[in-house]
Amino acid sequence: MIHASLVCRGCSGTLYAVSTNGGGAESLPTWKVDHDHSPASCPLRPLLPLEGTAAHIRELPDAGHVLTGSA
Ligand SMILES: [Zn+2]
Repeated sequence: MIHASLVCRGCSGTLYAVSTNGGGAESLPTWKVDHDHSPASCPLRPLLPLEGTAAHIRELPDAGHVLTGSA
């Protein structure tokens, strides 16, 4: 599942997010968030790709630092 319309807080570049369901009905999806196109310079590059397991992308560690908006 690919989620669009995410914007990097560091460089205002477009981000993509992919979620992979772990399998079991109760397992949380695994997320990967990264720049759509690698920016020449982004202060958040050390944080990306952002990967982790959470019920929602906004619950990932550092999501609040990387993602803009409230989608
Ligand atoms: Zn960026």
